[in-house]
Amino acid sequence: MKIHEYQARDILRRYGVAIPRYEVVSDAREARRVAAEIGGPVVVKAQVHAGGRGKAGGVKLAKDPDEAEAKARAILGMSIKGLAVKRVIVARAVDIEKEYYAGVVVDRATKKPVFMVSAAGGIDIEEVARETPEKIIKHPVDPAKGLSAGDAARLAAAVEPRPGIAAGIADVLAKLYAAFVGVDCSLAEINPLVVTPAGDVWAIDAKMNIDDNALFRHPDIEALRDTGEETREDALAREAGLSYVKLDGKVGCLVNGAGLAMTTMDLIKYYGGEPANFLDIGGSSSPDKVVAALDIITSDPGVRCILVNIFGGITRCDDVANGLVSALAAKPVKVPIVARLTGTNEARAREILAEHELVAAESMDDAVQKAVELSRRGA
Ligand code: GDP
Ligand code: MN
Repeated sequence: MKIHEYQARDILRRYGVAIPRYEVVSDAREARRVAAEIGGPVVVKAQVHAGGRGKAGGVKLAKDPDEAEAKARAILGMSIKGLAVKRVIVARAVDIEKEYYAGVVVDRATKKPVFMVSAAGGIDIEEVARETPEKIIKHPVDPAKGLSAGDAARLAAAVEPRPGIAAGIADVLAKLYAAFVGVDCSLAEINPLVVTPAGDVWAIDAKMNIDDNALFRHPDIEALRDTGEETREDALAREAGLSYVKLDGKVGCLVNGAGLAMTTMDLIKYYGGEPANFLDIGGSSSPDKVVAALDIITSDPGVRCILVNIFGGITRCDDVANGLVSALAAKPVKVPIVARLTGTNEARAREILAEHELVAAESMDDAVQKAVELSRRGA
């Protein structure tokens, strides 16, 4: 789950990281009030679930309340990467001497959280990662031991030669790691972490993604969910208990089980097609889930054909067939559907499909080949 910068700021502050004072507002006149209260220069920042706000014009410095109001008005009218800006924060602006990058992310290759730091922090970190990856120092952390004080000190020394400032950075790294573990992040990032000419260290941006599988033990974090930032399809999938990931191909997939869903996608590619999505309806599926799944798949205008691939164990094939039939009755689908249902109550499922003139494929290979071919025709 993604959260907003201001929410991540609050979490980091709870863990002791120095964060400049700020307030969230959704109205430009409120931005003026906050700027007056803070006094001195402020920075107005769009709050949307998207990176690169600085480059998109969603982060602006303002020297006084007048300017804060004008900048807030401009940013509140923007949309960044397709997301309308509904709120901004007005934060005390920090005098920057140097910008660093600090982040922790769960890494599949090492199966560990990996700490990353760089002296080349700021808005161009993606470019740094691409063109001069050696400027990003990586350190896999043994999750059983955590980040030791020595590790934090070594990482800080690698980006900052002045011992006093490096000590301040090491302190933030330790707190960032504590926050990462404490709220079960899959990613926690401060970019930039800055040092002022006076030598103070501040986190002036914060990003956190929370592991969905850990949300059950963080009701306070779950409450931070901003459904306004989700696409309609993501919200539908979450409400119906489906795992859904949108992709860019033409074959819409409705599958039960994550393993079979991955295999189905592989087979689509093997036969020269491209999946439009990953969608796992899970076990013991009710017809309702199939209705929701079809609704989600058909809202993607790129879909040219729908492939239903069900291995009936706990999931009953007749339930899925009934779900298909009721979904189609409620809202006819314009693209062809290829269904392969095998396992529990397969015979009954075939009867239901036949009664409604839906074609059941003979095998998984047969179904995938048909679906790929159909997906090419509409192109
Ligand atoms: P992002 O582009 O979405 O990552 O937004 P950031 O919060 O990282 O802001 C982008 C850039 O704006 C930073 O890298 C800074 O250079 C600049 N910036 C943000 N806050 C301040 C501030 O308080 N003072 C100054 N001088 N610059 C800031
Ligand atoms: Mn940033």
